[in-house]
Amino acid sequence: MNEALQRIADFDLSEEQRLVRRSVREFAEKEIAPFVEEYEREARYPTELIEKLVPLGFIAPMIPEEFGGSFVDVVSYGIICEEIARVDWVVASVISVTNSLVGGSILRHGSEAQKQRWLPPLARGEILSSACLTEPSGGTDLGNMRSTASREAGGWRIRGTKVFISHAAHAGLFFVVASVDLSKKHKGVTAFLVDPASEGISIGDFPMRTLKRDKLAEVHFDGVFVPDENVLGEVGGGFPVLGSALDMGRYSVASRCVGQSQRCIDLALGYAMEREAFGQKIGEFQMIQQKVADMVCRTEGARGVVYRLGRMKDAGVERASMEASLAKLMASEAATYNALDAIQIHGGYGLSEEYEVGRLLLEAKALEFGEGTSELHRKLIAEHALGLRGR
Ligand SMILES: Cc1cc2nc3c(=O)[nH]c(=O)nc-3n(C[C@H](O)[C@H](O)[C@H](O)COP(=O)(O)OP(=O)(O)OC[C@H]3O[C@@H](n4cnc5c(N)ncnc54)[C@H](O)[C@@H]3O)c2cc1C
Repeated sequence: MNEALQRIADFDLSEEQRLVRRSVREFAEKEIAPFVEEYEREARYPTELIEKLVPLGFIAPMIPEEFGGSFVDVVSYGIICEEIARVDWVVASVISVTNSLVGGSILRHGSEAQKQRWLPPLARGEILSSACLTEPSGGTDLGNMRSTASREAGGWRIRGTKVFISHAAHAGLFFVVASVDLSKKHKGVTAFLVDPASEGISIGDFPMRTLKRDKLAEVHFDGVFVPDENVLGEVGGGFPVLGSALDMGRYSVASRCVGQSQRCIDLALGYAMEREAFGQKIGEFQMIQQKVADMVCRTEGARGVVYRLGRMKDAGVERASMEASLAKLMASEAATYNALDAIQIHGGYGLSEEYEVGRLLLEAKALEFGEGTSELHRKLIAEHALGLRGR
């Protein structure tokens, strides 16, 4: 990032937050970036890269110190997600899932015993976790899920299939939602903490055209017994558990998108000021400059909205669903469009294996799905704006 762009990005950060950015960026560029292409080429899960987060406290910045985390303010958490995602989608995804979705849900809704059992190993990086939400019949309409949990003495038996599950083959904890009564729709949905080694769980490949190093999986639950003490929140209270995780989940994904958008700018600027055509740098052509301007505008627009959401959370605003939808939508679309522009600036090389930008396009597109699709966020924003929905 050059000086002018750095000034905008850092302008209203505190000295500590700027320091967080500098140290995470230095770490990410040295310890993660040089290895990502190799993991992707070999479709190898980046366990060794994820392990590097642990000693620096980057794996659990939203888990309080009493549980072994490295608790920081929400803006700093966003900056950690942003800077790691600037170099790698998968390692950043581990941070999101650990803190926003799984760890955050246990912190907010877990019993003391659940917190003591699961948070310290998550915070110390001894286990990873997966969120098992999406089903073959759909991920957006979770109220219509087909997975069931039927009552048994002392617990529940889960049956169903989840798809697109990140980190599943490497996780030591599954956060699973299933319905205790399908006729009750979303009021039957219940959240469970499930040991992936439980009898009845099988994990299969879910092959993707992108993010092969994430090893996305489908997870089958064939009558998996889960004891009562592993119900997270109330029976039938899975939607409130999910709902309270959403703001922070969307915030972390939006932060990751800002990181990817920035990466596209950095790569495009380098190329534009190096490549020549018609006797001049291509960055001197107005049509290339227009793309650069659009990329910077998208990124800074998104970054402003994302940082403001972080500040709202730091100020103690419990639910900020409209702001979270704005941040997620603006940032994920910025990442996709920036990848397209960055590829165009690279010409044909944008699609060659020698350059990173081509890989970033599908990885950016993938960020438009998790934590709510663009269509869902447009619907939510419009409903908030029209007064059809509460905060
Ligand atoms: C790389 C990657 C990693 C993922 N990791 C995980 C994970 O770890 N855990 C997990 O549970 N899931 C994960 N997912 C799944 C992701 O959450 C879902 O893809 C997402 O929720 C959308 O669900 P779907 O793909 O089934 O699309 P559908 O829900 O079937 O939607 C299809 C299309 O219809 C649109 N649509 C649906 N409802 C409406 C509506 N009311 N109005 C307008 N349009 C609508 C959608 O926006 C979309 O464009 C991952 C996905 C990807 C790509």
